[in-house]
Amino acid sequence: MAVVGFDLGSQSCYIAVARAGGIETVANEFSDRCTPSVVSFGSKNRAIGVSAKNQLITHADNTVYNFKRFHGRAYNDPFIQKEKEHLSYYVVPMKNGSVGIKVTYMDEEHLFSVEQITAMLLTKLKETAENNLKKPVTDCVISVPSFFTDAERRSLLDAAQVVGLNCLRLMNDMTAVALNYGIYKQDLPVAEEKPRIVVFIDMGHSAFQVSACAFNKGKLKVLGTAFDPILGGKNFDEKLVDYFCAEIKSKYKLDPKSKIRALLRLYQECEKLKKLMSSNSTDIPLNIECFMNDTDISSKMNRSQFEELCGDLLQRIEIPLRSLMEQIQLKVEDVNAVEIVGGATRMPAVKEKIGKFFGKDVSTTLNADEAVARGCALQCAILSPAFKVREISITDAVTFPISLMWSTETEDGDGIHEVFSRHHAAPFSKVLTFYRKGPFELQAFYSDLSNVPYPEKKIGKYIIQNIAAQNDGEKTKVKVKVRINSHGIFSVSTASMVEQMKMEEIESPNTEAEIEPQSQKPENCNKNTQQDNTEAGPQSQVQTDGQQTSQSPPSPEVPSEENKIPSVEKGNEKKSDQPPDAKKPKIKVKNVELPIEANLVWQLGKDLLNMYIETEGKMIMQDKLEKERNDAKNAVEEYVYDFRDKLSGPYEKFVCEQDRQNFSMLLSEIEDWLYEEGEDQAKHVYMDKLTELKKFGTPIEIRYQEAEERPKLLEELGHKLRIYAGITEEYKKKDEKYIHIDESEMNKVEKCISDTTEWLNNIINIQAKQNLDQDPVVRVNEIRRKLREIHGLCDPIVNQPKPQIDSPKQEEPPDTSFINKTEELEEEIKNIETTQQNGDCHMNESPVSMDLD
Ligand code: ATP
Ligand code: MG
Repeated sequence: MAVVGFDLGSQSCYIAVARAGGIETVANEFSDRCTPSVVSFGSKNRAIGVSAKNQLITHADNTVYNFKRFHGRAYNDPFIQKEKEHLSYYVVPMKNGSVGIKVTYMDEEHLFSVEQITAMLLTKLKETAENNLKKPVTDCVISVPSFFTDAERRSLLDAAQVVGLNCLRLMNDMTAVALNYGIYKQDLPVAEEKPRIVVFIDMGHSAFQVSACAFNKGKLKVLGTAFDPILGGKNFDEKLVDYFCAEIKSKYKLDPKSKIRALLRLYQECEKLKKLMSSNSTDIPLNIECFMNDTDISSKMNRSQFEELCGDLLQRIEIPLRSLMEQIQLKVEDVNAVEIVGGATRMPAVKEKIGKFFGKDVSTTLNADEAVARGCALQCAILSPAFKVREISITDAVTFPISLMWSTETEDGDGIHEVFSRHHAAPFSKVLTFYRKGPFELQAFYSDLSNVPYPEKKIGKYIIQNIAAQNDGEKTKVKVKVRINSHGIFSVSTASMVEQMKMEEIESPNTEAEIEPQSQKPENCNKNTQQDNTEAGPQSQVQTDGQQTSQSPPSPEVPSEENKIPSVEKGNEKKSDQPPDAKKPKIKVKNVELPIEANLVWQLGKDLLNMYIETEGKMIMQDKLEKERNDAKNAVEEYVYDFRDKLSGPYEKFVCEQDRQNFSMLLSEIEDWLYEEGEDQAKHVYMDKLTELKKFGTPIEIRYQEAEERPKLLEELGHKLRIYAGITEEYKKKDEKYIHIDESEMNKVEKCISDTTEWLNNIINIQAKQNLDQDPVVRVNEIRRKLREIHGLCDPIVNQPKPQIDSPKQEEPPDTSFINKTEELEEEIKNIETTQQNGDCHMNESPVSMDLD
C-alpha cells in the first residue's frame, strides 16, 4: 500500500512518500521536486505542473493558476470578485453559483469547476507519486490551510475523489509541519514534565499561518492557530509590480497593465528579483527585452528599497503572532523555539520581524519547501497498516468556534449552543440529548464570523427525522452526535432515539436495558453532553457550560471514528437485576438510528461528482493518447536527426554511395514533411514514416553493429577452440587429469573442435573479402550460437569428475576444482603447462585431506 503526502500549495506542490528507508520527497518528470500548481489547456491536451507553467505567458487565457482559494466559494464572494481582477483567465459563475473557470480546450469552450481544476493537478501529483513508487496510489494525506472552512475542505475532498484518491486526512499545514518536527525529536520532555512549546510559522505564496504546539514524548498538541489569509509572497510580488508599472509608465510611456502578457512577464521578473534580493543586499537589475511595443525595459532595486516599499506588509506579520499568543495565553518567554517554513519566510525582513517579536533567532531546521508534504506523508504512514511509525498522539485544534441552533417545540424560540469553542481539541465527538415529539432541525454555523475569512456563516442544516412521541405521549429522548472529524470538518454524524416500551408489550427482552419512566424533562436540549475524543482523549460527561461532572478513565484508541453512542444515559438507567418498582410499570428502552437529512453549504451533488469523475477519466485518456502521438512524432524527428549525423560519421562506411544519397534524400524529405504536412498527424502516420525510414536505416545500423561486435566474438571463439584443442592434446599425452575420460567422448570433442575451427577459418576468409557496406557473411548471433554449442558439447566431457578411489591412503577428496567456466578452463591449461614443466601433475590440485585413523 502506497503512503503519500501531498502539499497542495497555491503556487506549488510537493509530494512526499514513505519508503522503508523513511520519508522522501519525490521529483516529477522534470526531476524537480516542486510541481507548480498550474493547469493549462491546449487544443489537443492539458499541460499540468511544470509544462503548464512554461506556457503561462504564451497561453495566458487558458492557463489556470492561483485557484486554491476558489474552493467552496460562491462566484459572487467578494474574495473571488477581487481575485478575478488580477487573473489572465476567465472566472465565471457556474450554474449552481459557484466558481467556474472558462477555457478553450480541444478547440471548444469548456467550463470547469474548481474541484475539477484541482483534480487535474492531483492527477499529475498522483501520477508522479506512482511513477516514483512504481505502484498505484490511492490513500493519501493532503494539506490544507488551517483557516479553510468546512465548505472549502469538503470541496477539496471532492477534488480528491474525482481522481480516485482516498484522502485519509486533510491535514492542517501547520500540524503537518509540527508532526514533521516532533516525530524525529528524541529529547522531548516526558508526559509529566512541562511540554516544549514550539511556534511554527509558514509564509507561503498566498497566506501567512502560525500555530503554537506543545510537545511531550509521543504527544503533539496544537494549542492554537492564527493567520493572515491574504498575506504571502504574492503580495510582495504585487508591490514590486505596482512600483515598476508606475516607473515604466513614466519612463517608457507604456502601461503594462493594459496587456496581460506583459503584466505576467513583469510578475515573473519581479518574483525573480524578490528572490535575488533575499540573498543579496546590493542593487539588482531588472531587464526585460521586447517588453511592449518592441521596447526593452531596464530598472533596478535593492533590498532596503524593497523593504521600505513593503513596510505595510511587514507590519502585518506581527498581528497574527500577537493574536496567537494572546489567545493561548502564553508569553514569548514561554516559547522554546520558533520554526519557520514556507518560501516567503526566506525574505530577511520577514525573518527579522518574527525573530524580533519572539526575542530570539528563528530556527530553520525544517526544509522550508518540503516540511508540509513530509508531515502529510508521516501522517499517512501513521494511518497506514503497512508502516510502523513511532507512537505519537496528535491533537489538533478547532480553528473557528462552531455553534448549533435548534428549533424547539415551545414558544421559547430557538435554542443555541456553542458546541466547539476556538482551539477545542480536534478530532472530537460530542453527544447531545434532546427531548422531542417530532422531527426537528439543527443548524450549524460559525459562532463569530468576524474571525472567519469566509463570507458565509452557515455550515449546514440537519433535519433529524422519524421522531414520534412515546406511546404514553411523553417526549422521546433523542441523542445526536456532532463531531469535528479528522479533516477538520463539522458534521452531525448520527442520531438515535431511545424508544420506551412497556414490558408487557415486549416479547424478547434479552438485549435491552430497563429504565424507569422519565420524569418531566426540560423542553430544550438537555444540558448534558457526552464527549468522546476519537483521537486519544478521555471520555467524559460534561455540561454544556463546560463543567465536568464525571470522568471515566482514558479510553483505548478508537479505530473507527464512529464511536458507539452509549445506549443508556448514565443516571437514568436502572438495570434489570435491580428490584422492580412495584408501583411503576416496567419499561424497556430500545435505540433506534434516525435518518438525518443534511443540507450543507456548497456541497457537490453525487451526480455532479460522478460527472466530474467521468470527465476527468476521459481527459486523462486524451492526454495519454496525445502523449503517445507526440512520442511517435518525436521518434520520427529524433530518427531523422540522429541518422543524418551518423550517416556522415560512424555509418559512412556501412552504406554504398547510391544508398547513402537515396537515404539522405528521404531524411530531408521527411524532415520537411515534419514541419509542414506532418506537423499535426495521427500517431499511425508517424509510425508509418518511421517504418519507411527504418527500411533504409536498419540494415545500415545492423551492419555497423555487426562490424563492431564481430571481431571480438570471432576472437573469443578462436580462443576457446584453442583451449579445447589443448585439452585434447593433453588427453592424447595421457595426462592424469583427463585419463578417466572415455576415448569415444574425447573424440566427440575433437571432432567438434575441428569442425568449428574449419567453419571459423572459412568465414573469416570470406568476411575478409566483403565490403563493410555489404551484409556480413555471418551474424554475431550465429557466432554466439557456435560458442554455446561448443561449450554445451565439450564442457560436460572435459569436466567429468574423476572416479573415487577406495583405499583411504590413496583417497582423494572430490574434485572441488570442478571447472565449467571457460575462464577457469584457461587457468587449468596454464596449470597443466606448469605441472608438465615441474614434473608434478598434482601440484595445482586441491590439497588432499586424508583421514589416517
Ligand atoms: P501557500 O502555502 O500560500 O498555499 P505555497 O505553499 O505554494 O503557497 P510556498 O511554496 O511555501 O507557497 O512559497 C512560495 C512563495 O515563496 C512565493 O511567493 C515565492 O516567490 C516565495 N519565495 C520562494 N523563495 C523565496 C526567496 N528566496 N525569497 C523570497 N521569496 C521567496
Ligand atoms: Mg504552502
